[in-house]
Amino acid sequence: MSEQAIQGFRGRQIGTSDKEYDEARALYNGMIDKRPKLIARCADVADVIAAVGHARDNKLLLAIRGGGHNGPGFGSCDDGLVVDLSQLKGVRVDPKTRTVRVEPGCTSADVDHATHAFGLAVPFGIVGSTGVAGLTLGGGSGYLTRKHGLTIDNLLEVDMVLADGSFVTASKDAHPDLFWGVRGGGGNFGVVTSFLFQAHPARIVFAGPVFWDARDAKKVMATYRDFIARAPEELGLFVGLKTVPPTDPFPREHWNKRACAVIGAFNGPTAEGQKLVGKLLESLPAPLFNWMSEMPFTAIQTLFDPFFPKGLQWYWKGDFVQQLSDQAIDAHIANATKAPTPFCLMHLYPIDGAVRRVARDATPWGARDASFSMVIAGISPDPKDADALRSWGRAYWKAVHPFNMEGGYVNFLMDDEVDHRVEASYGDNYKKLAAIKSKYDPDNLFRVNQNIKPAKG
Ligand SMILES: Cc1cc2nc3c(=O)[nH]c(=O)nc-3n(C[C@H](O)[C@H](O)[C@H](O)COP(=O)(O)OP(=O)(O)OC[C@H]3O[C@@H](n4cnc5c(N)ncnc54)[C@H](O)[C@@H]3O)c2cc1C
Repeated sequence: MSEQAIQGFRGRQIGTSDKEYDEARALYNGMIDKRPKLIARCADVADVIAAVGHARDNKLLLAIRGGGHNGPGFGSCDDGLVVDLSQLKGVRVDPKTRTVRVEPGCTSADVDHATHAFGLAVPFGIVGSTGVAGLTLGGGSGYLTRKHGLTIDNLLEVDMVLADGSFVTASKDAHPDLFWGVRGGGGNFGVVTSFLFQAHPARIVFAGPVFWDARDAKKVMATYRDFIARAPEELGLFVGLKTVPPTDPFPREHWNKRACAVIGAFNGPTAEGQKLVGKLLESLPAPLFNWMSEMPFTAIQTLFDPFFPKGLQWYWKGDFVQQLSDQAIDAHIANATKAPTPFCLMHLYPIDGAVRRVARDATPWGARDASFSMVIAGISPDPKDADALRSWGRAYWKAVHPFNMEGGYVNFLMDDEVDHRVEASYGDNYKKLAAIKSKYDPDNLFRVNQNIKPAKG
């Protein structure tokens, strides 16, 4: 290693001249191409403390990498130091208390695998390769959210390395201000080296996708909107506008058809789930295909992973939605139709049930009065499509944003908008976040993120 090596570091330090440098710096989003000076692949918490100290003392830009999934690539940086946590993959399930201790390099599939053996699950997102760390620190929503809340609503405790190198445990009882901040405030306050989650019973679910031709999209979206507002919380079901992927296992006769889909999981007796989804389907036209069936919870959690391998181009836009009007649905359909590739999508994830039962100021997550979290994602395997994905995503967002709330889920924002949208995304909670930031990270060492500026004075 060069003279910039971190002293006493036990893991692997990867510099620009190392043969694995390109592989080590590659992020999930192929649109992002960052070249850090040094990637510090930590072997333990002592390494995290050493790496944070090295960045601070040498005035290096510092990025924290969990699963590396973040849209704008906040898991890396140019010319700085990456604290790479990907090797820290321990998971310990305590079946008695139904709690799970998770190290920060875990993906949600890693944790789901470990908890499934005990018939338990933590509410994470809908793609198994997503890092638990970044997802949790931004909020986290998925199939179990209506019943059990956001991922942060199931977070009980974190271990953290702070900017000054100190190590703390934060929970409702210890450093409660810091614990409040990390439940939605992202990686702004330090490096989380361990998460403790509450898990819930989940083993076999009635789950999967149902696709309709896009000509039925208006009816499907409006019916879904009214249905989900009253549906039992055991059903986590989102609606999306997509294209039938031109690949197996999708029926060849439907390849490349514009489509509307609902995708979800009912965490309860299969017969009840079938009956419930049947009620939705009976008021709708016949779908192109209906693949909802009984499956292990881990199967729905990873069902889409093969379609979204690492390295695709992704351009993200996000908003919270209070009311999905018929007019807004029309705007969605008109813009989704213009998607430049068959991978592009728009999803509306329900925000209700257990999420609403948590007070708005109990965590920084600012949109508990929303009905949906919307994501528009321009996706392609071909880097040549990058500009088209950006233009489509921006135009689509511009058309629907007037129907939506001011802020969006911070984990769905791209870096061309985080600066001016972070504050709106946290709403009334931003001021308190800024005060906590100034207490724990006054020099903004942790700034490669949806940045909260330390409050002055
Ligand atoms: C295919 C795909 C599907 C997704 N589906 C969902 C979904 O269903 N629900 C949902 O809520 N979100 C979803 N997301 C968004 C996801 O939550 C974010 O991309 C999140 O940033 C991923 O976390 P990561 O650890 O993989 O990211 P990274 O890129 O590694 O890190 C992202 C940010 O988190 C911070 N960070 C990471 N680890 C730590 C740590 N240990 N301590 C402190 N800060 C840290 C860093 O500041 C960094 O800025 C999805 C993303 C993708 C790409």
